[in-house]
Amino acid sequence: MTTLTKTSRIPSKQGMLENVMRQFDHAADIIDLNKNIRKILEVTNNEFVVHFPVRMDNGEVEIFTGYRVQHNNALGPYKGGLRYHPTVDIDAARALAMWMTWKTSLAGLPYGGAKGGIQLDPTKYSQEELQRITRRFTYALGDNIGPELDIPAPDVNTNPQTMAWILDTYMSTKPPAERSTNMHVVTGKPIGAGGSEGRDRATGYGVFLTIKFWAEQKKVDLKDKKFIVQGFGNVGYWAAHFLEKEGAIMTAVQDANGSIACEEGISVEKLLDYTKANKGSVLGFARAKTLENSEFFGLDCDICVPAALGNQITAQNANKIKAYLIAEGANGPTDVGAEEILLKKGIDIIPDILCNSGGVIGSYFEWLQNKNGEIWQLDEVMAKLEKKMRDSFTRVFETAKERNVDMRTAAFILAIERLEEAYVQRGIFP
Ligand code: NAD
Repeated sequence: MTTLTKTSRIPSKQGMLENVMRQFDHAADIIDLNKNIRKILEVTNNEFVVHFPVRMDNGEVEIFTGYRVQHNNALGPYKGGLRYHPTVDIDAARALAMWMTWKTSLAGLPYGGAKGGIQLDPTKYSQEELQRITRRFTYALGDNIGPELDIPAPDVNTNPQTMAWILDTYMSTKPPAERSTNMHVVTGKPIGAGGSEGRDRATGYGVFLTIKFWAEQKKVDLKDKKFIVQGFGNVGYWAAHFLEKEGAIMTAVQDANGSIACEEGISVEKLLDYTKANKGSVLGFARAKTLENSEFFGLDCDICVPAALGNQITAQNANKIKAYLIAEGANGPTDVGAEEILLKKGIDIIPDILCNSGGVIGSYFEWLQNKNGEIWQLDEVMAKLEKKMRDSFTRVFETAKERNVDMRTAAFILAIERLEEAYVQRGIFP
């Protein structure tokens, strides 16, 4: 186990860690954060790196590297997703774990922040192999995760099926009498395996809600507004689904395979059906033209929803952006250099820790239902989610106005102040 020291705060190849630290430092300076609490929040509590063997379909054994970083648990158990992607490394996990701490704090949840995953390209493995990799990773993490300790959830390239495998593996290692008391060790499970109604759409619905609340404040009618989406996975699809229902028009989409655009609009449901039949790719969708990826962010539109990976909007492409609103479905899609340019141009950014917080709020509802042996209906979940998202959005929007700062800084201020209060009241052991 190692901890993050100041000297290890070197920008990773993706620079996400440097970004989250700069965002934190900026807000901490404004509120003149207690210097001792600052020292605590600057470092991660625990970091696990596990190497584990898995037998492949061809009989060979491959060694995988998995990560779990637990940043802070002052407000409750660690909470955060697991990502399967070649870019997963210790710095990416640290950065994403920190964002989770700010996100759960801002949302007023009884959680801290964590993140992790496995460095791999899941397209290279069969479902059977992915199942064995997931189960062996869960076994390697052992009791370093747990329903009252650290609760993983889906992220890029992991899904409800992945969570069901984790749950089953974790439960299977417990004595029979304790097995069913561990249902809430992961959230984002399939409904049949203890999942919650509405968790599938919670993040994308939350992204849509923050856009709707922003539009209400700015007196913008979303009908016929053009939006573009980067990433057509869980978050991108559901955000697009709800925006289209509100009358907005999706004019371009980019995924890991490439970019497509159509001025007249791309039907969200038809594109989903198409991707299901086309190995998940948006390329080749009828009537849409294929674009160079480098053209994507410069397309003419009103709203841009980055819902894929971190550091996609950078100082290199920020100047080309025509949208007047960026709603961050992804974690860390806008780097600090790009943000300066965008704010100068008068573009509003709904920051990730607010915009995509519907996911962790939906996860909290699932966790509560598992703990209490309850099953809530879809409309109940969606109504509770909307109430919490509206509350967070209003606090961020009002704080931004009062303090004359952008929405990200306001969101960080609120998140850090809640943690500061907890530490001041409790003191430091011993
Ligand atoms: P997903 O695996 O369901 O979908 C990811 C999408 O991004 C896919 O369409 C993929 O093709 C695309 N993509 C991957 N690499 C790309 C690239 N280089 N360029 C363009 N597109 C690329 O993942 P998801 O769960 O939708 O997560 C997307 C983002 O949202 C991530 O940043 C994640 O951390 C964040 N997020 C997810 C949740 C959740 O509940 N799933 C919650 C909060 C935040």
